[in-house]
Amino acid sequence: MFSLRKSFPLLILILAFLTSNASHVLLAAAPQLWAGAAKVDITERDAGPVNDPLYTRALVITDKQTTLVICSLDVVAIGEIGYIKDDFLPTVRSRIKADLNIPETNIMVNASHCHGTPVADTDERTIQAIKEAAANLVPVQVGAGIGHENRVQENRRLKMKDGTEIDVRHAYALPPDEDVAEVGPIDPEIGILRLDDESGKPVAVMYNFACHPIQGAASGGNTADFTGFSSKVIEDNLGEGSVALFVQGCGGDINPVFYKDVDHPRDGEPLGNMLGLSTLEGVRKIETTNDGRLKVVNEKLKLPRADLAEKIAHLEREQLRLVNSLNGTSLSLKTYMPLVVKYSLNNDFPSYYSHRYLYEEKLGRNHMTEMDRINRGNMERYTENIITMEKMTRLNANLRLLKKHQAQNIAAGSRTVEVELVGFRVGNFLMTTFPGELTVRIGLHIKKEAPSDLSFVAGYTNGYIYYAPTDEQLLNVGGAQEDSDCILAPGWQKIYENKAVEILKGL
Ligand SMILES: [Zn+2]
Repeated sequence: MFSLRKSFPLLILILAFLTSNASHVLLAAAPQLWAGAAKVDITERDAGPVNDPLYTRALVITDKQTTLVICSLDVVAIGEIGYIKDDFLPTVRSRIKADLNIPETNIMVNASHCHGTPVADTDERTIQAIKEAAANLVPVQVGAGIGHENRVQENRRLKMKDGTEIDVRHAYALPPDEDVAEVGPIDPEIGILRLDDESGKPVAVMYNFACHPIQGAASGGNTADFTGFSSKVIEDNLGEGSVALFVQGCGGDINPVFYKDVDHPRDGEPLGNMLGLSTLEGVRKIETTNDGRLKVVNEKLKLPRADLAEKIAHLEREQLRLVNSLNGTSLSLKTYMPLVVKYSLNNDFPSYYSHRYLYEEKLGRNHMTEMDRINRGNMERYTENIITMEKMTRLNANLRLLKKHQAQNIAAGSRTVEVELVGFRVGNFLMTTFPGELTVRIGLHIKKEAPSDLSFVAGYTNGYIYYAPTDEQLLNVGGAQEDSDCILAPGWQKIYENKAVEILKGL
């Protein structure tokens, strides 16, 4: 007789067999990802000499139900400033929706933020790149990882001993060395997504790093800057057909090192080579798997707009105070410069050979030392005037920015600004995006609260709302570009950071 109890071990065997079969069935049905990538040249060759080409790069990833398009452009911003007009994003999205049936919300476009000159039909060429990428789809294995680079970037906001902050720009002078108290953080992490074809060759590498690509080319020619060179190094090493997409991170207050160098030609190429090689080191450590998870979310968020009237009035009072503080001066640049050289060469005997000073001492005269006293006093007053002039260069530039944004905020007729935020997961790689220049602390905060170490933040994506500094940095309004070239009001930071972490956790 068949007894259930007696047959228990057999039943377990059968169940085990069925379960193992079932898991095979499940594995076979697990979503498979396909990906394709392409790049198209967007260098404007009529804008003068070209140092290195600019590209629009596209990556299409799909599980045949959800499709994600990631574009990376060697341009300063997606709309609002620079050469890419406001109709770029809607044009690209509607054409890709019409021709490839990919939802507009699943198309994200990141600007590297390099300051090169692209062609006028960059929209057409981006559509072309996306279509080529979609035509190149192959089954892929995916993996995420992290690279490390801390040699090419520095935080450009300097904390002064008086508590204010001044940033490193070409638009104005740096403060006196002795006034600088502290430097800010950088984010050395390179967030990497690797997608391999079935032979193990990378179809594409997407890498996220935070730094302004504004070192320029030593030749002065049109350039995609150091992130163009890092992508070239990665592509050259991965071999024919592999595409490296740079996705700019929270680089709002991060500059290339030696940005203000006047002793060596400033050149983005060596910095890009370092970033590219560090990215490759991270790429090689990634083991890709058939993790087929793909998710895309697209949300709108309202952030408070600033009222800058009070700050503008404060800066205008300060401007007047500085003008009125200029000293009367006996010296002009022509007499000041030789004196500075002479008095820095010899503190005791600046004006003539030492024997003349020794004779005067022997004869009980003070003519030489009295002249030196007068010269030193005049030089000090002239130096003070120079420092006041340097302060005014900073104040004037930042006051202009504040006035521009106050006019924009009034014209907007709304106390809020709406931003588009994308979140996506590809395998174990998570990313969320923002349409402005987030400063590095914001990226570091979000990463700290994120659900995994493989969560990353891209600024400069799907639009441009200028700089987005921390609430604390906003208190410094007028001192640095990030807090003056900004339309946001204090309080915006927590609203955004909470939403960004929520998006990442939901992926
Ligand atoms: Zn910028």
